[in-house]
Amino acid sequence: MQTITLRKKIPVHASVDVLVIGAGPSGFAAAVRAGRLGAKTMLVERSGFTGGMWTAGLVGPYFDGENKGGLNLELKNTLLKKHAWGGLWNICPDAAEMILVLDDKLREAGVHLLLYALGTQPIMKNNTLQGAVIETKSGPLAVKAKIVIDCTGDGDIAAAAGAPFLTGRPKDGLMQPMTMMFKIGGLKDSYKRDDIQSWYRELKTKIPEKEISKKLSYTHPCVIRLPRKGEAAVQWIHITNVSGVNAEDLTRATLEGRRQVRYALEFFKKARNILGDVYLLALPAVIGVRETRRIQGEYVISFEDIKNGTQFKDAVGASRLNVDIHEPDGAGQTLIRGRSYQFPYRSLVPLKIDNLLVAGRCISGSYEAHANYRLTGNCVTTGEAAGTAAFLAIKERKTPRELDGAKVGKLLRKAGIKMDDPKPAYIYKPCN
Ligand SMILES: Cc1cc2nc3c(=O)[nH]c(=O)nc-3n(C[C@H](O)[C@H](O)[C@H](O)COP(=O)(O)OP(=O)(O)OC[C@H]3O[C@@H](n4cnc5c(N)ncnc54)[C@H](O)[C@@H]3O)c2cc1C
Repeated sequence: MQTITLRKKIPVHASVDVLVIGAGPSGFAAAVRAGRLGAKTMLVERSGFTGGMWTAGLVGPYFDGENKGGLNLELKNTLLKKHAWGGLWNICPDAAEMILVLDDKLREAGVHLLLYALGTQPIMKNNTLQGAVIETKSGPLAVKAKIVIDCTGDGDIAAAAGAPFLTGRPKDGLMQPMTMMFKIGGLKDSYKRDDIQSWYRELKTKIPEKEISKKLSYTHPCVIRLPRKGEAAVQWIHITNVSGVNAEDLTRATLEGRRQVRYALEFFKKARNILGDVYLLALPAVIGVRETRRIQGEYVISFEDIKNGTQFKDAVGASRLNVDIHEPDGAGQTLIRGRSYQFPYRSLVPLKIDNLLVAGRCISGSYEAHANYRLTGNCVTTGEAAGTAAFLAIKERKTPRELDGAKVGKLLRKAGIKMDDPKPAYIYKPCN
């Protein structure tokens, strides 16, 4: 590959205690927790709003947020008051209201939010992170930080710093498909809130599934009723064999995803008697990327941990929902019931690089484990844990690796996060 070398002096824009990169469910939660504890916290986000997949990707329902306390509960209660929570299984947020709520909570926590800022380069001294360079309309800016939390979903900063990572399923490295979600309006009032597929059964009486699959390959499409009257999110598009950390793939998948939305809208007309005259209400700002890098940490959460319901001394949260694999090379989806297990603090601490934590879908785990902890409720939990750990590490003048994870868990329990009451793990119908 041909290369060029650029040398630049970069202005230092800010010096903070905690720099969080990426403001999805995990980054929001990490920044709020660190901010509330009194750490000088900056959150940088590449788009013009926070919320990540909840808002830019239009994904829902909000899975595995129940019985966890903390910010998961707080968000639900705040959205409920605004009549912006409900829909399918009574766990769907309204995306636009979610953005406003996240803005409020970040401001109240004293977090310095910088939008339109892409974290690109780690600032390193040997193997220790000292901040990151962000690309903005003002040009590249340096942010110095005592601790950096990578919440990019893709582990962008951790990978660039040299933290080891894995991608894809072990046998061939393939990752779960991407999906272009979209919103429809005009859904009939009679369409039941918890009904995701009666329209599809109806469609299959008119067009053989084999014919439908030629245009839209995923065979478990869902109409996900949202809190607002007549609105639903649709999950019907699978784009396989693409990487969420490859710019050309992302563009190709996005264009192909949008092309396929038209097929879906045409098919909906054939189920008009059940759905009503639905129309395209909104496209997401970005295509939904389920899986990229899994940064390898001091502990790797395994499929066995989920099957056995492993509890840890350094627990910082717990998961209860099924493993959910959208098959990388097929039309199907595999849901596997595990047991409620805990997230060990060590799974947020990357190998090799100091003063770095990860949270959200890029934490340390196996292919199957990732397919569980990637759900948004879990990403909030690991975000809260990382924000709390960053504060504690600075207070105790330790690196995250030296920090006693049990102390992080203690502080989280004090803040109302539940992790010691593992109700039986449960399973949802295919929908995420
Ligand atoms: C199609 C699809 C459907 C899903 N359905 C469900 C569902 O129904 N329920 C559920 O609970 N979960 C669902 N998930 C899983 C869930 O949405 C994600 O795993 C979760 O949002 C990950 O949270 P995160 O905070 O790690 O990352 P994200 O939500 O991806 O947020 C990352 C944020 O970081 C920003 N960012 C990325 N890179 C940089 C950078 N270098 N610099 C600055 N900012 C950056 C992004 O813009 C984004 O705002 C779905 C996922 C997909 C793709």
